[in-house]
Amino acid sequence: MRNIYKCTICGALTEDVMHCGVQTRLILDGGLRSKLGRLMTYLLRHNPGAIGLAMDHEGWVSIDELVDAVRTRWNPKAYSWLTKEHVIAIALLDPKGRFEMRNGMIRARYGHNKSLNVNIKYEIDDAVKTLYHGTTKEALTRIMREGIKPMNRKYVHLVLNPEEAYEVAIRHGNDAVILRISADCLRKNGQQVLIATDRIRLTNYVPPQCIESVINPRS
Ligand SMILES: [Zn+2]
Repeated sequence: MRNIYKCTICGALTEDVMHCGVQTRLILDGGLRSKLGRLMTYLLRHNPGAIGLAMDHEGWVSIDELVDAVRTRWNPKAYSWLTKEHVIAIALLDPKGRFEMRNGMIRARYGHNKSLNVNIKYEIDDAVKTLYHGTTKEALTRIMREGIKPMNRKYVHLVLNPEEAYEVAIRHGNDAVILRISADCLRKNGQQVLIATDRIRLTNYVPPQCIESVINPRS
């Protein structure tokens, strides 16, 4: 990921080396930014209990408590330098919009583990027609028979363009395939399409008949 800097004049957090006409100060390099971002998603989506974080039923955690818990309980040697500003910078500038902040609290915007029983009120998308889901060839036979289930997550994650679905799929293996899904078919089958971010949609279940086609990027 790109480095995060802070403007020495106005205090803005930015990926740019210049701000307000002067050079900015480095606060987080790209490598640490990805590492800490992954830790934050793990704690906020899957396991706040790993460091004793209190999470409410909408997924919110206190930013102060998160910083303190990561510094003292996750890995004191690795994160003794961590401040609130690093966490805020990662959340604010995240290219995928994985985090949300409000009143000193932070939460993952999507991707929660089912077992956490987090309930976020998402807006409903009544307009979108076509959605995409990246998966692997191995999973395809089961999916064409049973549809797409959320597995250990609360929702099935869908995206608005095939390129992004492909990026998700290749993380799970080399034999990535992309499924093209009819959003109207989901609605006809009683499944709401929810807006997680400008790029990500959520639904409870994709029945097999709503999969319009399978795109094999290699062929
Ligand atoms: Zn500035």
